[in-house]
Amino acid sequence: MRNHKKKLGQHFLNDKNIINKIIMSIKPKMTDSFLEIGPGEGALTTPLLGLIKDIVLIEKDKDLIPLLQNRYIESNNVQIVNNDILKCNLSNYLLGKTRIIGNLPYNISTEIIFKLLPATSHITDMHLMLQKEVVDRMIANPGSKVYGRLSVMTQVYFKVTKLFDISPNVFVPKPKVHSSYINMIPKVSPFSDNNEDKFKKLVTMMFTARRKMIKTSLRDYFDESTLKNLSINPNHRPEVLSVEDFLRISKYV
Ligand code: SAH
Repeated sequence: MRNHKKKLGQHFLNDKNIINKIIMSIKPKMTDSFLEIGPGEGALTTPLLGLIKDIVLIEKDKDLIPLLQNRYIESNNVQIVNNDILKCNLSNYLLGKTRIIGNLPYNISTEIIFKLLPATSHITDMHLMLQKEVVDRMIANPGSKVYGRLSVMTQVYFKVTKLFDISPNVFVPKPKVHSSYINMIPKVSPFSDNNEDKFKKLVTMMFTARRKMIKTSLRDYFDESTLKNLSINPNHRPEVLSVEDFLRISKYV
């Protein structure tokens, strides 16, 4: 058996029941075009292939490419791309409306999420597997200890549903962490003109100063009474602000 590359987060699914459960939850259709991030040896790709229109596989590990090419040599609806999802130009692969799947490399999963988020208009939905703690942060509500930049940015672009947790035992090699499997559906964009960029900067700035009161973080932009007019308590910390609060503030920064 080949060696798994730890630095590429290679933990391959090796359990028929879980793979079936994942494929069922995707509800594949013959008209669907897919993009898979990190197909590995094709644990998800192979069972999906006969049920869909076509799929693009983006795999960074060049040593896996010959194996994949060989495995799908007879399939004319598979495009294999040896590339890094963080470095590639996503718009080359998100033609029309695409469904995204992936059992993500956990060491770079938040970077991948941040790259995918603004692409909502080209995405039908995403089914992703991530480390459980990362999912907890993505779905956290205001006031929670793990609510932060990742929660706000994820939830402004997508409606996220956790479908189920996955034990380390179904992977080879076993990861040290637990996993969660999620569904993400794009929301209608609340942004117009240039306010997407302002929103991103505001959220980053406020969570970089997580322990500071809102009035302190925003003192260059608002006095206390303006914050109160926006229904924001100036003495609170950013972790109590909802996505809607951030949107409202960002319009006035
Ligand atoms: N989907 C497979 C493999 C999951 S492991 C399965 O479930 O069995 C994660 C996969 O992502 C590995 O194949 C790894 O080589 C690949 N990968 C790691 N970093 C990547 C990157 N930056 N871009 C694309 N693929 C990457």
